[in-house]
Formats: sequence, C-alpha cells, structure tokens
Amino acid sequence: MKSGFDARAAKRLLSWYDRHARSLPWRVPPAEVTAGKKADPYRVWLSEIMLQQTTVKTVIPYYQKFLERWPTVKDLANAPLDDVLSAWAGLGYYARARNLKACAESVARDFNGEFPATRAQLRSLPGIGDYTSAAISAIAFNAAEVAVDGNIERVISRQHLIEDVNPRLKNRVAEFLSKVLPIDRPGDFTQAMMDLGATICTPKTPVCALCPVGEGCMAFSAGNALEYPKKKAKKAKPVRRGAIAVILCDRQVLVRQRPDTGLLGSMTEFPGTEWREGEAFPALETGIKLLGKNWQKVTEKPVAHTFTHFFLELEVWTAEMEDTPLPNKTWLSNIDALDQIALPTVMKKVAIAAGISAQ
Ligand code: SF4
Repeated sequence: MKSGFDARAAKRLLSWYDRHARSLPWRVPPAEVTAGKKADPYRVWLSEIMLQQTTVKTVIPYYQKFLERWPTVKDLANAPLDDVLSAWAGLGYYARARNLKACAESVARDFNGEFPATRAQLRSLPGIGDYTSAAISAIAFNAAEVAVDGNIERVISRQHLIEDVNPRLKNRVAEFLSKVLPIDRPGDFTQAMMDLGATICTPKTPVCALCPVGEGCMAFSAGNALEYPKKKAKKAKPVRRGAIAVILCDRQVLVRQRPDTGLLGSMTEFPGTEWREGEAFPALETGIKLLGKNWQKVTEKPVAHTFTHFFLELEVWTAEMEDTPLPNKTWLSNIDALDQIALPTVMKKVAIAAGISAQ
C-alpha cells in the first residue's frame, strides 16, 4: 500500500538534494548551508519576484544584471523608477517591477535596509504574497514555513492522487507538507521540492524511475502521473485589437508613458488607440493623425502578442512628424537608444515591424 509523501520521503528527498541540487546564482549550496552559511534575503527576494511566472533560464541574466547594478536593497531603493523599469523590460508582468522598487524603498525606510524575517512582516511588503513570503522566510531565514508553488502542487497532487483544483489544492498540499516539513532544514526542503518538480516530476515527462520519492508515490504506482494535478476548465482568451502610430522625426520617434496603474503601468509606448475586443482594427484618433503626414500601414500582418488574459493584435502605422508642438506627456526618443528606455516586449515588436529596431 502506497503511503504518499511522508516523513521518510522528506528525508529521502533531502539526501537527493544534497547530491543533486541545481546550482543557481541566488542559491547557497546545501553543503554550505549545513556548514552554517546563510542565504542573502535580498538575493532570495529578488530571485523569487523574478521567478513569478518566468522560467529560471530567462531570469538568470536579468538577476545578474540587477545584482551588478544594484548590489544591495538600499541601492535598488535609491534607483530611479525608470531605470528599474528599463532593466526589467522583456521580463513581462511589469507590476512586479513597480512593486520591486516600492518594496526596496519600504525595506530601506521602515526596516533599516534589512529584510524582516517573519512571514507576516514579509507579507506586508509590496509585491510579496502568500507563496513568496513563505519561500523567503524558509530559504533566507530557515523558518518552518511551507511554500507551495506550481511545482510543489504537482508533486504532492501526484503523490496523493489529489483530485482538487485550486484554490483548494494549494491548501491541501500545504496541509500535507506541514506534517512532514523537516524543521531543521525547511529552506533546503523547500528548494529540494522545487528542484524535484523542475527536473524529475515535470509536467509532461515525469521520470518516475529516477525519482527519489517514487517509492510511496500513488501516481507512479497507478501509472497515471500525467492526469495530475487536475486542471480547471480554461476560458478561451479573447482577442483585442488596436492601432499604433510610429511617428518619426529624423532619427527620433514619438513616445509616451502609460498610466501608472493597470497593464504595463508606467512603461513607455508609441501612441495609439485603446485595445478593444472586436473584429475590426480601430482607426487612429484625429489627435494622433494630425501629428504626422505621409501615413503608411506597415504590413498587412498585424503585430501579435499574448498577455495572460487576452491575445493582442496591433495594426502599425508610420508617419513623418508634422511641425507641431508635442502633446502633453509625450517626448521624442532617439531611435538608436530605444534599448535604453522602458519599452515592453509588445512595443519592441512594434519597433521591429516599423523598421526602426533590429531586435
Ligand atoms: Fe511520483 Fe513520478 Fe512525480 Fe516522482 S516523478 S513524484 S514518482 S509522479
């Protein structure tokens, strides 16, 4: 009779982690943790925020760039928001970057530059939710906290054949883990679970034969690992459409800042219409049309981009700037320095389509 993930499995998992832990730039290897070395909470926090919705491979160069530029939380707190947004450009989910800056400011101001250790205090900081507060608390402060991410949900739902979907699944997984959490090594245990989910108990190709906790696993025994975790039926994503104006003046292009809140908040964009659901592309407003002449539609194929809740298609137009005053909150940006401003990925695609950027 299989028992699922119990205290013996937790032990086996830790000894597997001691031999096979992934080497990650923000991580202290298990042998060094055992020798008394502690993880730097700033590094753990930075990596955890970047890893939300983003893969390790994508995160590593961004993490290294941030750390080189802002080696401490106080350095990040003192950085101009626009520099942080530019450095973040390409990672997506830009609210994370604004929260990152707000959180650094709060730690510098309210906690004298030292991250607080308790989950409740961490949870009170901008951008730190339930999972991230538990992960930082366990990994950086070795507190007996259970952090449940998607990887861990997958492993435990397979170990115990849990039929629930979220949010109940998360609670049940936390319940199981709180009973077996090795209180002497909660940080290593959390990271070991993450590594197991990322390298062995993967979504599509779990390698049960190599799994250190295969012995008690109910899904391995039943041969139905791929059926877990159960998924909620997904709603179809709507398509929104918009028109964008790339208005050129010699080697400069007209840009503006998006509102501080909402999608791509505070990021830089080329002017254009709202993005709405509908069959047809909206026309550029007269106020924008009057800023340019010799309008040309760039290509028959719209620029496409996928957001979490909708697909976006943008019709791109180019024009030469009229000799007219710039509207409020817009400015001309040098085309050769587009990589230095906070252009989100969708606007980088527009720049490529309009032929003003190669990447
Ligand atoms: Fe179970 Fe296989 Fe996942 Fe290991 S890899 S936890 S044996 S489903």
